[in-house]
Amino acid sequence: MKYISTRGGIAPVGFREAVMMGLATDGGLLLPEAIPVIDQATLASWKELSYQELAFQVLSLFADDIPADDLRRLIDRSYATFTHPEITPVVHQDGLYILELFHGPTLAFKDVALQLLGNLFEYLLHESGQKLNIVGATSGDTGSAAIHGVRGKENINIFILHPQGKTSPIQALQMTTVTDPNVHNIAARGTFDDCQNIVKALFNDLAFKEEYSLGAVNSINWARVLAQVVYYFYAWCRVSGQETEQVVFAVPTGNFGDIFAGYVAKRMGLPIDKLLLATNENNILSRFISSGDYSVGTVVSTVSPSMDIQVASNFERYLFYLFGEDPARVRQAFADFAASGRMEFTEAEMAQVREEFLTRSVNQAETLATIEAFHKGTGYLLDPHTAVGIKAAQDAVASDRIAVCLATAHPAKFGEAVEKATGAAPPLPTSLQGIDRLPSRCEVMDADLEQVRRFIIEKCRVQH
Ligand SMILES: *Cc1c(COP(=O)(O)O)cnc(C)c1O
Repeated sequence: MKYISTRGGIAPVGFREAVMMGLATDGGLLLPEAIPVIDQATLASWKELSYQELAFQVLSLFADDIPADDLRRLIDRSYATFTHPEITPVVHQDGLYILELFHGPTLAFKDVALQLLGNLFEYLLHESGQKLNIVGATSGDTGSAAIHGVRGKENINIFILHPQGKTSPIQALQMTTVTDPNVHNIAARGTFDDCQNIVKALFNDLAFKEEYSLGAVNSINWARVLAQVVYYFYAWCRVSGQETEQVVFAVPTGNFGDIFAGYVAKRMGLPIDKLLLATNENNILSRFISSGDYSVGTVVSTVSPSMDIQVASNFERYLFYLFGEDPARVRQAFADFAASGRMEFTEAEMAQVREEFLTRSVNQAETLATIEAFHKGTGYLLDPHTAVGIKAAQDAVASDRIAVCLATAHPAKFGEAVEKATGAAPPLPTSLQGIDRLPSRCEVMDADLEQVRRFIIEKCRVQH
């Protein structure tokens, strides 16, 4: 399997190289040259597999340059850190299926991908004898999951920028209380988009990227998308009665990484009727799907901070397919967007979008009301991100369809919002008990490219 760039400017690379490259060197995102299609018989044969076995089947289609035994070992090690034997169990509540993706070390779905990515990096670096400096921006969950994915691993440093004060208190603690010497937290005075722009600029400086061996863990890394494809298959295998049964997946969306993994699963032949893209008030993607209006607004802080994003980095991957896999059209669209803050789509393209997606934008009052009503009706606690998807599914999916809602975080991770909605703080899982009393380390600075660059250089120099 070879990987190409959405911008068409690189020679095809293998999976190993794609993982280490992160963002493509032409500024685009990496995608498989062709997405493999699974036939009905194969899909049927996957129904009884464990999560790890299923992950092996899916991953080996895309990672054919890693020996099978090594891949199995990497998968087993990655999911041994999860506290549920099924890794991503499906529960049924109030007529909806809920795919619980929060049983990993940081209690959010990003662990599913980042536990694997951390082990993949370690494996590939060990083989090549190289070092890696991971640089990433986070609105909260990516950073903590990435840090937990690589803490203490050899030949890896990690630098994570987060917008100061704009993550939940627990999210910040899950990052800053990891004091392993290879972990460097940066709290920037700015928004998540500011942080992400700094990271993009560092990666676009090819000389710097090369000299300091920068690597990405943001959802732009193909291996993350790939790891997330697995649980769409897993959930479908748990909920569908027949091989052809169509399912709607409701996905609380920020950077479009999670839902893009669902799109890949759909293209692989998984019977997905529609992908329901659920946003909070930061609804550029909802406006795009419902009316073709793709124009940036300003970022609003909400009770679902991991979705407080305007420009979704993985959206470019979807555009590549929407534009008929034409890199010139992708380049043109981004040039237009840079110039005018808008992107234009044809009628045919918008018809295609509506064929594949449903969408709802759910505001904060609705989110809190959903947490409260769902808890009253079922006793089940939703985190505010999950609640956005649940509300979207309640509104947009007919009751005779099968809807699977992705539960992207544990309610205790966003306890303040849950308490506001229900009147009681959610019980803390063991991993969070006493976390506010642990020692912590974090560097506060302006959202300024050069300050961040100097900090990275300095930390790398200290180690030599
Ligand atoms: C990251 C995150 C999201 C958004 O996922 P994307 O892949 O960025 O669309 C939703 N909910 C939670 C809890 C998250 O951490």
